[in-house]
Amino acid sequence: MESILELTVDRFRELGIDGVLLDLDCTLKRYRETDVRPETGQWLAALKAGGIGCCIVSNGRNHRIEQFADKLGLPFVANALKPFPFGVRRAMAKMGFQPAHTAMIGDQVFADVLAGRWAGVMCILVRPLHPEEEPWFTRIKRTPERLWLAWLGTRDKGRSETNEPRKRKT
Ligand SMILES: [Mg+2]
Repeated sequence: MESILELTVDRFRELGIDGVLLDLDCTLKRYRETDVRPETGQWLAALKAGGIGCCIVSNGRNHRIEQFADKLGLPFVANALKPFPFGVRRAMAKMGFQPAHTAMIGDQVFADVLAGRWAGVMCILVRPLHPEEEPWFTRIKRTPERLWLAWLGTRDKGRSETNEPRKRKT
C-alpha cells in the first residue's frame, strides 16, 4: 500500500484482523525523525478507539524504540531480529494476539514481510517513508526488493489477463 493511513478500522475488521504489529522506521515515521507525523498519531488513536491492538516490532535497539513507544503509548518489542520470526512471535505472546487475526505492517520485504510470513501472520507492505535517509545496511536490500516486487507485478498481471493460475513447469 502507499501508506498505513489507508488502513482503516473497518478494513482491518473486513480482513479479520484485530491485532497489528507495526514496524517503526520508514513505516510509522521517517528514519531520522524523532517524532511521528500528527496524522500518524491520529491514525493510531483511531485504531485504539476501534479496538485494534497495536504493538511496535522493530529491529532497533531497546533504548531508542522505547522512547518512541512511550511517546506513542504503545507496547513494543525491540531487537526483533527480522527477517527471523522471533520478535513477531514475542510480540504476539505479549499482546495475546492469534496468528490468524494478526497483521505485520512494514516497509521492507526482506525484514517485515519475511518475518511475518515465517510467523504465519498476514503481511501488509507499505511504501517506505523517505528511504534515502536509511542507513546503508537497509539501503542495500532495496534493489533485490524492487526486483522481487517487479517480478510479482508481472506474475500477477499475467494471471489477471488469463484469469487462470500459472501453469506448473513440467
Ligand atoms: Mg522499516
